[in-house]
Amino acid sequence: MGIHAALGALAALPTRRASFILTVSLCAMLIDVDHTGSFLGLPMEGRANHSVLFALVAPLIISTLSYKGFLGKNITPMVGGSLALASVLAHVAFDIISGDPDIPIWSPFTAIPVTIPYFVGILLEIFAFFIVWLTIKRLNREGGAKEIIT
Ligand SMILES: [Zn+2]
Repeated sequence: MGIHAALGALAALPTRRASFILTVSLCAMLIDVDHTGSFLGLPMEGRANHSVLFALVAPLIISTLSYKGFLGKNITPMVGGSLALASVLAHVAFDIISGDPDIPIWSPFTAIPVTIPYFVGILLEIFAFFIVWLTIKRLNREGGAKEIIT
């Protein structure tokens, strides 16, 4: 759990904002909440939050919430979406790196896990960092980061 948080925080470092870094580290840990349903015996496939679909839908939901203003004034849809994606990627990266490379990436279409190579876990963490870095760089170029990164 601690390393999930650390990799989430690392991915959010380009924001240079403690609240974003803390949020992404918490979200990177909370990704595993999808285990809870199956532990409780509910008819759920385990680890659905580790899928490609979730990695696409979570940023979309967070971006929409940001756009509608539900996440406050200081988070744009682009920042919210990139942080959500970074949370998922950082989490899955550590699952792979820590020796749990069988990820159900095509859930909910199939629960059959795909074995992801170790180096892809490292690439996912780099990609998570890079997405946040690019988002902040773009905001800086547009002058919009003054409100975001203070
Ligand atoms: Zn996990």
